[in-house]
Amino acid sequence: MSTKSLKMFILAASLLFITACSSPANSTDEENHTDSRTTAEELNKNEKQDLPDKTLQKGDQDKSVQHLQAALKEINYPIEANGKFDAETTWAITDIQLQLDDLDITGIYDMDTKEAINKAVKDKQEINPGSGLKQPEKDSGAKDKTVANPYEILSVVNKQSALPADYTPVDLVVPDIPFPFTEDLPKKQMRKVAAKALEEMFEASEEAGLDLVAQSGYRSFERQEAIFASNSQEHGKEAANNFSARAGESEHQTGLTMDVTTPSIENQLIIEFGETEEGKWLQQHAADYGYIIRYPKGKEDITNYQYEPWHIRYVGKKAAKEIMINELTLEEYIEKITN
Ligand SMILES: [Zn+2]
Repeated sequence: MSTKSLKMFILAASLLFITACSSPANSTDEENHTDSRTTAEELNKNEKQDLPDKTLQKGDQDKSVQHLQAALKEINYPIEANGKFDAETTWAITDIQLQLDDLDITGIYDMDTKEAINKAVKDKQEINPGSGLKQPEKDSGAKDKTVANPYEILSVVNKQSALPADYTPVDLVVPDIPFPFTEDLPKKQMRKVAAKALEEMFEASEEAGLDLVAQSGYRSFERQEAIFASNSQEHGKEAANNFSARAGESEHQTGLTMDVTTPSIENQLIIEFGETEEGKWLQQHAADYGYIIRYPKGKEDITNYQYEPWHIRYVGKKAAKEIMINELTLEEYIEKITN
């Protein structure tokens, strides 16, 4: 047996152990070790029971979170099985999603992630903690105000909490939606998971007879630096900070944001967009596709941005619905689910 397969066998054996612990003790050690093939088959059955059968995300707190954490610990994640879907659990899930193929990279535990973990274990594919995303230091975010997990779709990027200068998402793509320009510019890009949802949303808006276009998505740290410098020069730093962001503090660097508009207002990004049929439809339906109006009217003191009916941010359906129905900001929602 090679070191690798020995390691997988130990992992397999310990996964079996958790299941055995959580169900009535009805087998003896002898029964478990009669035949290595039987043990492996049993493992495949058992490990599926170990991983929860429902979507779990930041702030969730119950027995199934604890089961998930126990399984993550068994594949060597240094996290606590405290039953609370905390920053460490979010990191572990994000790290796995970055390592395994074809998964939505969200930091949210979903059924595709579950299947991929099961398959990786079955195929003896190693998952190496930290090789997808370096483990954030405990409370490092609180100290230097840097977003520790930029891949998480519930990450808060604002004037108090900035992205690392070197963060460039690995999964940028150009969504198949209308743009009012033909050049192949980097601002057409978004992260895969957000692009997919945006395509669905645009399709639905077209079916409703509307004419949405996408103006500006991903923006690199360097590009944001140049934009802020030019705005500051024209309007002064303080004024510029009300309508544009310093490098690192722009949500556009996440790749989860798109500014959208419509030809009836000459494709501009202006408050009047909110009064167009397209703007009203967006307010009503964005959440069905996992998007929120990130800077709502009347919340300027929380977001530190003026009302921007055109700036939409992908957060996933669960969070989006709660945010839009209860008229929250992302800041308020995160505060609510993590405290
Ligand atoms: Zn924007």
